[in-house]
Amino acid sequence: MTIRTRFAPSPTGPLHLGHAYAAFVAFDMAQAQGGRCLLRIEDIDQTRARPEWEAQIYDDLHWLGLTWPQPVLRQSDNMKAYAQAIDTLWQSGLLYPCHCNRRDIAQAASAPQEGAPMLGPDGIVYPGTCRPDTPPTGPVPTDCALRLDMARAMERAGPVSFTETGSGPKGETGRIVLATGTAQTTIGDVVIARRDFGTSYHLSVVVDDAAQAISHVTRGHDLFSATPVHALLQRLLGLPTPVYHHHRLIRDDGGKRLAKRDDARAIATFRADGASPQDIRRMVGS
Ligand code: GLU
Repeated sequence: MTIRTRFAPSPTGPLHLGHAYAAFVAFDMAQAQGGRCLLRIEDIDQTRARPEWEAQIYDDLHWLGLTWPQPVLRQSDNMKAYAQAIDTLWQSGLLYPCHCNRRDIAQAASAPQEGAPMLGPDGIVYPGTCRPDTPPTGPVPTDCALRLDMARAMERAGPVSFTETGSGPKGETGRIVLATGTAQTTIGDVVIARRDFGTSYHLSVVVDDAAQAISHVTRGHDLFSATPVHALLQRLLGLPTPVYHHHRLIRDDGGKRLAKRDDARAIATFRADGASPQDIRRMVGS
């Protein structure tokens, strides 16, 4: 099998050392095994994505010596595919409309009988306020968020698992299985379509990894907890589950994960200061 990896940055700020490391992992893995690394621009959040950041991504990656097949998949050009997948899940009775805002969720989750709120891949595990007893019917609503009914989804999906060749933040590796009870308590009814974008990170990434025929997904530890959601969506949508390889995060001197706004560690800043691509490799230990 020829392997296909991908690097999937969001054009919402400059690429920094953490992105450079993630790109090296994805491109090096593909190259070592005679495969290709594809590029994907994750710009579903059109309020934050900027064409100039996208242009800077291409420029920085080329400067680092990386090349990728054309065309690049830009998520904002692929909204129809997400709508189709959402329609499939809706028709299967696995989604329901949710009108809660963040404050409603925080309040419901911290009600005295609930104990300490559980944190999942998207923050507080949804307490189920809007979950109906029977699946809703009719056209897909577009004026609200759509959540996955996790209990129903797990029942429909059957066994959900994926292969991890790197490790999760707690050293998780090998065959990772998502148990039904765990899915409900530690992930809960995640949002599949946000009201403002009509899709979500989870749904788009799963549709795109399949569309780009990605065999190996490499990404940082911070996304390990999202991977069971992706493996579940792949089963529900009849899509293949790639191999996953989560890697360490590049942290600043204080041990904090680098953020987009951390311009001091932007690749463009190092370039302007005269660093070479090899210097960048050395700085991230790649
Ligand atoms: N777009 C995500 C990021 O920039 C990466 C998503 C993924 O690798 O699944 O962090």
